[in-house]
Amino acid sequence: MTHVFHRNPKQTLPYAVKGDGIHIIDSTGKSYIDASGGAAVSCLGHSHPVVIDAIKHQLDQIAYAHTSFFSSQAAESLADFLSSRAPGDLDHVYFLSGGSEAVEASLKLARQYFVEIGQAERHIFIARRQSYHGNTLGALAIGGNEWRRKPFLPLLAPAQHVSPCYPYRDQGSHESDEQYADRLAQELDDTIERLGPQNVAAFVGETVVGATAGALAPVGDYWKKIRQVCDKHGVLLILDEVMSGMGRTGYLYACEEDGVVPDIMAIAKGLGAGYQPIGAMLASDRIYQAILNGSGFFQHGHTYMGHATACAGALAVQQVIEHEQLLENVRQRGEQLRRELHQALDEHPNVGDIRGRGLFVGIELVQDKASKQALDPGLKTHARIKQEAFSQGLMLYPMGGTIDGVHGDHILLAPPFICTEADIHEIVKRLTHTLERVLPRQA
Ligand code: PLP
Repeated sequence: MTHVFHRNPKQTLPYAVKGDGIHIIDSTGKSYIDASGGAAVSCLGHSHPVVIDAIKHQLDQIAYAHTSFFSSQAAESLADFLSSRAPGDLDHVYFLSGGSEAVEASLKLARQYFVEIGQAERHIFIARRQSYHGNTLGALAIGGNEWRRKPFLPLLAPAQHVSPCYPYRDQGSHESDEQYADRLAQELDDTIERLGPQNVAAFVGETVVGATAGALAPVGDYWKKIRQVCDKHGVLLILDEVMSGMGRTGYLYACEEDGVVPDIMAIAKGLGAGYQPIGAMLASDRIYQAILNGSGFFQHGHTYMGHATACAGALAVQQVIEHEQLLENVRQRGEQLRRELHQALDEHPNVGDIRGRGLFVGIELVQDKASKQALDPGLKTHARIKQEAFSQGLMLYPMGGTIDGVHGDHILLAPPFICTEADIHEIVKRLTHTLERVLPRQA
């Protein structure tokens, strides 16, 4: 018998047959609230008529034209939309089909930039231990998720890793946000000095960490301080906003809130909201000009990059978000979500931390609140939570993993930007019920 090679072949999955706003309906008629947007993707829900019409309209014109022969109005308009709203001089947009591709392109552009400007020794990438940048080999090489990397270690290019900005576990009790951010910036500075600044190409980080830690936002002026260290050594700053960008934190680009401008930025998930597969890399004018006036060719490319159908869908998504002022809703509903989670779960003995920005919210679970001792990894609590929530018609994105020897069980919430106040109540209600069943409070 032939069948789909699912990522977890032992599992039998229901078929998703219909989208209805923030709900997905399966073939038995059961409805699920998509409180994680899949994996922080579906920011407009599953049935937005404007986006569906835009995609159909584009398909009526032409299905596919290779980007070595043609551009399209959809790609040009989307690039214009994204660059005109991007901070600094991130004026140039290179389209791809997803997040890992956007990260791979970012790494290659950084490397090629240094080759073009006569600094070919610069080849080392520094990232953080608590990070996920994608599953392709280049992105996996810089990522910090030990479980995802382990089987492939012999294939991964060496990368350097520094400490994540993880206040819940790492900030000293007498250390202010600024002192903590200074300490981390100093660690990066020391690492670059040790490696030799002339050898280092770029520092790569998720503006707000998603898939390894559940919406871990940096403290104070962390990113400004990191930017200063990069500038001091002529090292590029690459921000991975594949998950945290495109409005998820309440700002179109998450780094706007941090007042920092990277040299290169990767975006994906919320860009197309799942209606079509699309990602993009934004590059600063300085980098673009170096390629243009150097070899005149970026040595990269994929068959489906800049696909007009995907660009038309993504443009419609972004226009709807802007016209309907949904980022304001993201900020308000995000505050409501965190407030209600605190009310419902602060007293729960296994809820260690509730954190995040906008509709990008994480919960860290622990065995013991006072010592922050993690749950036994063998219990696979995150997987049990996912299963229990799903049976209750709630889609969550729980994850477990070991960082710096500490196991973590986290839940990531990333509901669609169209959520109402009542939707948030219902999500908190079902989530609380799920936790009470998987981790019952002792009487
Ligand atoms: N970068 C970040 C921060 C991500 O969260 C992800 C996916 O979760 C990726 C890159 C990879 O994106 P994709 O799964 O679209 O390849």
